[in-house]
Amino acid sequence: VKSNSQLPSAHILIVDDESAVRNLLCAILQDNYACTTAESAEEALRLIGDVRFDVIISDIHMAGMSGIELISRVLGLSPDAVVMVISGSTSIDSAIEAIRSGAFDYLKKPFDAEQVELAVDRAVAHAALIAAQRKYETDLERLVEERTARLNYLAFHDALTDLYNRGSFERRLTTALEGDAGRVSVVFVSLDNFKALRDGFGHSFGDRLLREVGSRLANVSDRVTVARFEGDEFALLVKDTDHDAVSAFVQKVFEIFSAPFKVDEYEVFVSVSIGVAMSDAAHNAQVLLRNAGAALSHARQLGGNNFQFYSSDINLRAIRRLELENDLRRALDRGEIGLHYHPILNTNTRKIVGAEALVRWNHPKLGPVPPIDFIPLAESIGSINPIGEWILESACRQTKHWHEQGFPIEIAVNLSPRQFQQHDLERKIREILEKTGLVPSYLNLEVTESSIMNNADAAVSILRGLRNAGVKISIDDFGTGYSSLGYLQKLPIDILKIDKSFVSDVSANPDDAALIITIISLAHNLRLRVVAEGVETEEQLKFLHLMKCDEWQGYFYSRPVNADAFESLLIASNVKD
Ligand code: C2E
Ligand code: CA
Ligand code: CA
Repeated sequence: VKSNSQLPSAHILIVDDESAVRNLLCAILQDNYACTTAESAEEALRLIGDVRFDVIISDIHMAGMSGIELISRVLGLSPDAVVMVISGSTSIDSAIEAIRSGAFDYLKKPFDAEQVELAVDRAVAHAALIAAQRKYETDLERLVEERTARLNYLAFHDALTDLYNRGSFERRLTTALEGDAGRVSVVFVSLDNFKALRDGFGHSFGDRLLREVGSRLANVSDRVTVARFEGDEFALLVKDTDHDAVSAFVQKVFEIFSAPFKVDEYEVFVSVSIGVAMSDAAHNAQVLLRNAGAALSHARQLGGNNFQFYSSDINLRAIRRLELENDLRRALDRGEIGLHYHPILNTNTRKIVGAEALVRWNHPKLGPVPPIDFIPLAESIGSINPIGEWILESACRQTKHWHEQGFPIEIAVNLSPRQFQQHDLERKIREILEKTGLVPSYLNLEVTESSIMNNADAAVSILRGLRNAGVKISIDDFGTGYSSLGYLQKLPIDILKIDKSFVSDVSANPDDAALIITIISLAHNLRLRVVAEGVETEEQLKFLHLMKCDEWQGYFYSRPVNADAFESLLIASNVKD
């Protein structure tokens, strides 16, 4: 075996039982190629097993295995092999046979050096072409393989965070529940302020934040399966139902949110709500997921940044809330919403000078639902505006009717925070006043300090707009919120309603008495009218009278009553001019 010491690009194997032929071919080719020689087909096959040759040049007639057989063996081993045969001028038929069996070309004896070089160059080029084609095919195959793997991956994972997706999570949960222990907890984690952050900083910021959150969650424990469901909802599968152990785990989850998240140049704090459901014998994956979801919404309803274990009453509460929401959507159309009127009296004359309209919902099954229960519900499902408009219109129409009866009373109507933020509130109020014919100055709109402070920048202009429509503004529940008289000074308002909590303690608690005195005198300095709410006793009334409180309202005179009963009170109190 003779091998060339140079390292040219292609490697050629020369097979011939005549050493003269081998040597001659080597001499011709070794300037351009690495040449290896073999004395027999058998030796050639051994070499081919170890080394990769670009081109194999073989004699046809050899002792032992023939060149033709060698060709079929070689091509059987590697179909890409490029084989040339050597044929004498008399054995051209065998050369043709060799090409039929898969040889690429043949070299005719006696050798012409130039012819041999050209033919071998062609064979080497062909070998290179085949190799390139093979490489392209394997690249393509690899690409397809990679794509398929990615698709398979995506079928089980979330593309954004690389965590498991909902489908995988459910399958794993099912498997875990079927396992012999079957003790599994599902922990749902949701970001409290995600929507606001995404709206503020943009969607790609939101995506990167979710990725960060995902990677922190994935690192909480290596024994926990973490998945992202939709949006900012993550699910964790904990193989434990020990209450303390799961609570400790949840604490660890809270801890990873104590450090701010760095996304781009921003650092943001993220708080989370967490809902936990633990398996019991009766549970399947779907029930467990639903329970964890219910616990999560309960945590959210409690204002976020807290965690709740699922308990069956959460479910009941959620169902009740859902039912109540549905019922509330239809309540207006079904005529279940009504108004009661609570008399407001002048402290000196003891006559009714006005009424506060108080909404009532008469639920067909539950009976009366108090406004503090359904007003926030109406706000959250977006039906406060139609209900609020109905209240305004009914109150104005009713009051106009009493004016026509000769009772020139004012009507106070509560505006919920959401209503107060409506951009076209002024226009709506003007329309209602026009429609009902009520003189605007008889309408008082009650807003709370917190409604104003929630929207402090816009508040002054909203209030101005309302007052431009000719109506009066009352600050409701004064004393319970910010109670900044300094700030009130800047607001275009007319009336201050002292919250009933101060009134109720006025005889027992000297601090409350002092506060009422201060509020009344400051309000009077600001030329505001003062109304005291929640007067239940003669004593409270006497005190308010002494302190020159202008008006009062309370059970001491009457509970809120329907329109007919209120009319009787009007007649009895003789407000008629
Ligand atoms: P608010 O505006 O402070 O209404 C006064 C509440 O105190 C009324 O309860 C009234 O019945 C009650 N009240 C009046 N005098 C006394 C008294 O002497 N003693 C006691 N213990 N309570 C007294 P109500 O009708 O249950 O309303 C509760 C809250 O619901 C209202 O507080 C108001 O924030 C909201 N609300 C009521 N009606 C409406 C409405 O039409 N629209 C909006 N947006 N909110 C309303
Ligand atoms: Ca009120
Ligand atoms: Ca009030």
